[in-house]
Amino acid sequence: MLMDGYLSDELWLRLLAGLVIGLVLGSFITMLSYRVPRSLSIISPPSKCPHCHTKLKARDLIPVLSWLLERGHCRYCHRAISRRYLVIELTTAVSVTLAFWYFGLTPRLIAAVLGLVAFISLVSINFERQRKIW
Ligand SMILES: [Zn+2]
Repeated sequence: MLMDGYLSDELWLRLLAGLVIGLVLGSFITMLSYRVPRSLSIISPPSKCPHCHTKLKARDLIPVLSWLLERGHCRYCHRAISRRYLVIELTTAVSVTLAFWYFGLTPRLIAAVLGLVAFISLVSINFERQRKIW
């Protein structure tokens, strides 16, 4: 992995893959944590602003980056978007990246990622149901 103090190309690719997959999964979990407690479909309709109900475009749905670029506000109605989106996406991205680093491309990685997604989803949905934070 470490070659002369540098990360190998294989490890960089593994970390990059973990980060991208973690961000995508984190975005999926934010959708679950909003829709499941409200008994909404997780398939359709497409994502929209919870305040003004404007259908979100692809540029509004980039995990972490969209939230940061708009400084946590809806691009259309400018109302605040919960920090939980950022927290869930970052938590998932970091934990999945660490799983990619630790397990490599092995069957254990698949089990670890599935376990992480299930755990973060259940915690997020539970918090949303109880509205103790966010
Ligand atoms: Zn809005």
